[in-house]
This record gives sequence, C-alpha cells and structure tokens, in this order.
Amino acid sequence: MLADYQKFKARFPTLFPKDPECGFWLPIGWEKLVWELCKELETFISENDIKDFQTVQVKEKFNGLRFYISTSNNEIRKIIDEYESLSYKICAYCGSQKINECDCCK
Ligand SMILES: [Zn+2]
Repeated sequence: MLADYQKFKARFPTLFPKDPECGFWLPIGWEKLVWELCKELETFISENDIKDFQTVQVKEKFNGLRFYISTSNNEIRKIIDEYESLSYKICAYCGSQKINECDCCK
C-alpha cells in the first residue's frame, strides 16, 4: 500500500510545486518518516530562501527510501541522507521498528 501523495502535496506546496516527474511511490510504513523529513525540508527551504526546490521522485529501492530532488545543496542532501538511513530500520509495510531483518509482514 502506498501513502497518499495528494496529502503531501497539499501540506507541502514548496516541496511539490509540480508533481514529481518520476513519481511518488511511498510505502505506507514510511509515511510518518517522510512526513517528518518534509517538515524539516520545508523549514530549511524557507529559512534559507531556496527558490528552485523540486521533488523529482520518491520511492523504495533495495529496501531503502529514495528521495530525489532537483536542487544540489549539500545541506539539504544531508537532511535527506539521514532519513534515507533511518528507513532501513523501519518496516515499509507496517511502520514498525525492525529489530533484525523484518519478518513482521512476510
Ligand atoms: Zn512490518
């Protein structure tokens, strides 16, 4: 199951000025994680007056979150990297913390 993109778009217009051109496929278990990431990005963007931000793609790859953006800003990249790392510890299906390898939803 996927998270509802329209909810993100409505709440974070500065992150999604256009629909992500390569798609928004966010597993529901990571919805809370990415919501927090978006809040952090939104704050950073407004505080640093970044104009050209655009989310290009959100998806799962090799069991990890991928959040691709158009802006090449190292500080923004660092924020995203942190959340991408966290995603490996959270089950993409149910959102619970993984202890070892997740078997809760298999
Ligand atoms: Zn699970």
